[in-house]
Amino acid sequence: MHLLIVEDEAKTAAYLRRGLQENGFRVDVATDGVDGLHRALEGTHDLVVLDIMLPRLDGWELLRQFRAAGRETPVLMLTARDGVNDRVKGLEGGADDYLIKPFAFSELLARIRVALRRVQSQTDSTLTVGDLELDVLTRRAVRQNARIDLTAREFALLWLLMRHAGEVLSRTLIAEKVWDMNFDGDSNVVEVAVRRLRRKVDAPFGRPLIHTVRGMGYVLEQR
Ligand code: CA
Repeated sequence: MHLLIVEDEAKTAAYLRRGLQENGFRVDVATDGVDGLHRALEGTHDLVVLDIMLPRLDGWELLRQFRAAGRETPVLMLTARDGVNDRVKGLEGGADDYLIKPFAFSELLARIRVALRRVQSQTDSTLTVGDLELDVLTRRAVRQNARIDLTAREFALLWLLMRHAGEVLSRTLIAEKVWDMNFDGDSNVVEVAVRRLRRKVDAPFGRPLIHTVRGMGYVLEQR
């Protein structure tokens, strides 16, 4: 899941980014309203966390323009004020939920998951390749009726491979998507992670789904 945080306070933004990444989300941060609107309109995010008091364009106006452009991505607003008018204004303006600052990180995480679930329940949240199933909301993998426990990174890696089942994904692309990092040619972080994932997803079940394509990368498919 890919989130956009629009927040001008550097400390808060860094704290949210770190916490959400630790929970397996990919996170982009915009530090003013104009940049935030542009990033949101790119349409690559599954949810937007939006502060109200922002330089250049405030959260209300960002939200108004975003919805006016026909975008339905869930938006969770962060407000320092707790006036009833602000809440009503936010919800009427097309926010899906709001949180009053200061808030506990666990509360934000719970609200994000609820908002994502609401959207995802309108579509099927389960990916299936062969006898392997991955529920992207509960983050549970099941193969031949056996539950496979995944770490946040393993989940992100498996999810990427399953979303692109049948396509060869390069190590560079995997590193970028799963670790949000620029690929260092000497780094074997992807190989190590794939090896670990195979031990859980393939090894106990006889028939491998994750295949190495020499010199190119990896592909998940039923052969
Ligand atoms: Ca602010």
